[in-house]
Formats: sequence, C-alpha cells, structure tokens
Amino acid sequence: MKNTMKLEIAALSENEPFARNTVAAFCLGLNPTLEELSDVKTAVSEAVTNCIVHAYRGQAGVIVIECETEGDAVHILISDKGRGIDDLSKALEPFYTTSEGEERSGMGFTIMQTFMSDFEVRSVKGGGTSVRMSKYFGRNKSSEVANAE
Ligand code: ATP
Ligand code: MG
Repeated sequence: MKNTMKLEIAALSENEPFARNTVAAFCLGLNPTLEELSDVKTAVSEAVTNCIVHAYRGQAGVIVIECETEGDAVHILISDKGRGIDDLSKALEPFYTTSEGEERSGMGFTIMQTFMSDFEVRSVKGGGTSVRMSKYFGRNKSSEVANAE
C-alpha cells in the first residue's frame, strides 16, 4: 500500500540532518541499498540547505517535505515560500551560484539531478521554490540491503 509522510520544519541549519535522516528512515520500508539511501540523503541535504541559505537567507521560514511511495519508488517534494529563483535555467547549470565568497560551489542542483532518478524544480520569484525528485529503488540489486542490519 502507498505510504506517505509530511514534515514541516523551521529553516534552521540544525534541522538539515534531521530532515535528511527522517526521509532516509521513511525510505527504509522500500529496502534500499546503502548506496541508494546515501543518494537520497545527499539530495535531500542539498535541497534543504538551499531553502535555508538561498530561499530565506538566514531569516525565519518554513520548509515542507512531503514523501510518498509508489511501488519501489519514493517521490519527495521539498518546498519553501522564500524569495524564489531569478533565472532557473542558469541556476540549474553546474557551478552556477549567486553566493558570493568561497563556500558555495554551485553544484547542489547538479548533485540532486545526478543522485536521483527524476528531478524537477519550480520557482516563482518572490513566491518560493519547490523541488520534486524521485528515486526508483532496486535497480542495482547486487548491492547490500541497508536495513538488513
Ligand atoms: P552549493 O549547493 O554547491 O553549495 P549553490 O547552492 O549556490 O551551491 P545550487 O544548489 O546548484 O548551488 O543552486 C544554484 C543557485 O540557485 C543558488 O546559488 C541560488 O541562487 C538558487 N537557488 C537554489 N535553491 C534555491 C531556493 N530554494 N530558493 C532560492 N534560490 C535558490
Ligand atoms: Mg545549493
């Protein structure tokens, strides 16, 4: 049967590990491999960090994370009501960042796209951004099963 969950968290950096690990725990029911689980955690981490750093720029805000299963897949929607993205096609390019300074590499969206099976971003300037991504588990059956331990 289809499983669902919805998580609403404050846009604080201390909530990023909580979000990533909660989504990973939700995925355990689908028997992912350790590698698949790690891919999902990395993608969630990048999306949530973007909400904290770019959407709200350190100001108070809410991040909503919705997950649902469909067969062997998990669909994840991560949305904010922050500032939105000025130029989405540029933002999706590798190494493009609007952050000044050294700490951002502009690789978050590229990582999400690479690590997940499907990936889509919608953004409204001044209205927020939502990232929809899916992971289809079990495509690489030879690896070890994460929740067998
Ligand atoms: P990195 O992820 O490597 O630390 P980055 O966050 O700048 O660097 P991406 O995650 O690829 O790189 O995002 C590219 C750009 O898209 C960001 O610099 C920012 O301008 C914009 N962006 C991404 N997510 C959001 C968001 N949720 N709200 C507003 N702008 C965003
Ligand atoms: Mg980023």
